[in-house]
Amino acid sequence: MLLFTPGPTPVPQNVRNAMADETIHHRTPEFEAIFANSRKLLFKLFKTDEVIMLSSSGTGAMEAAVTNLTSEKLLSINAGKFGERFGKIAIAHNIKNVELKYEWNTPTSVEDVLEAIKKDSDIDAIAIQISESAGGLRHPVEQIAEAVKKVNPNIMIIADGITAVGVERIDVSNIDCLIAGSQKALMLPPGLAILGLSSAAIEKIGSGKGYYLNLASEIKSQKKNTTAYTAATTLIIGLEAILEQIEVNGLDALYDETALRAKATRTALSTIGLHIYPTSPAESMTTIDDEKASEIRNLLKTEYGVNVAGGQDHLKGKIFRINQMGLIPTYESIWVVNAVELCLDKLGVRAYSGLASQTYNKIFFGLK
Ligand SMILES: *Cc1c(COP(=O)(O)O)cnc(C)c1O
Repeated sequence: MLLFTPGPTPVPQNVRNAMADETIHHRTPEFEAIFANSRKLLFKLFKTDEVIMLSSSGTGAMEAAVTNLTSEKLLSINAGKFGERFGKIAIAHNIKNVELKYEWNTPTSVEDVLEAIKKDSDIDAIAIQISESAGGLRHPVEQIAEAVKKVNPNIMIIADGITAVGVERIDVSNIDCLIAGSQKALMLPPGLAILGLSSAAIEKIGSGKGYYLNLASEIKSQKKNTTAYTAATTLIIGLEAILEQIEVNGLDALYDETALRAKATRTALSTIGLHIYPTSPAESMTTIDDEKASEIRNLLKTEYGVNVAGGQDHLKGKIFRINQMGLIPTYESIWVVNAVELCLDKLGVRAYSGLASQTYNKIFFGLK
């Protein structure tokens, strides 16, 4: 079965092999060397002033960012399940929260965010997804961050890049906290979250908030290539392996190939009459809304060996989402669009002609 969900993504064989070695103790020079190298490679990926690894799923990093970087009031952008989660985290911690809410196919805008911060001078942090995985949309985070900093440079910009870091180039000049998770673009098992921090964020964190998710304790330890509590040694060994593998062709090659794969998938599926759900699609996934979404998804699994994701909440049974993150063999992606076309034939929607895979090939391989 091909795993084509936008997280978890498949873990490459060499990474699984690296993680299969004997357990090593985390307070040893041997592990510190692995930690140091992973950290070095993370700095290349994040381009931020500091990087911190946490033993938690992505949500742990979202919680750490909100609690450590908001003192007064959080503005959260809710255009899907993950944006909604930022607000829920604030509420759980008795942090004041205002929300800008959108339908799951609609990104926020610079104007809306500026209006919100001008209306409420208590807002000292903004939390937003770069790629909102609920509907597969891209928010204009870099433009928002730049505009916000011009109005008030003290407002912290928290960017959830869980389906964006390792997917596309992100301009971090005005971002204070950039979040990634292991099981999406980083092709690792779940359980490791990473935060990239600006110097301004480190200053605001000060002595930190909370206990396990206190970022000040982690910054202090991780600068010395160790962690405040037991490190997720196996996952960090895997992280070193995957980042080394990405290094072979380089990040630019990964970003370019992902963008091309995204374009080829979107175009191939549009050509056979399917509709792209978000008005500003992210590079991480293609989301199709269709009244036969759950039938297509079931057939993909039972007839053609492809596992794609469905929708959550009000989008359950209404959309399906195809992953584009990570190092994906091109023949797999071509099979996926071809399998979708086969489903449409089986459902009596459209006679099969091979147009989806042909379109994909033409775009991906640059044929005339
Ligand atoms: C998956 C995801 C998360 C949540 O991560 P968990 O690892 O499930 O805690 C947060 N934000 C985005 C955009 C995601 O795709």
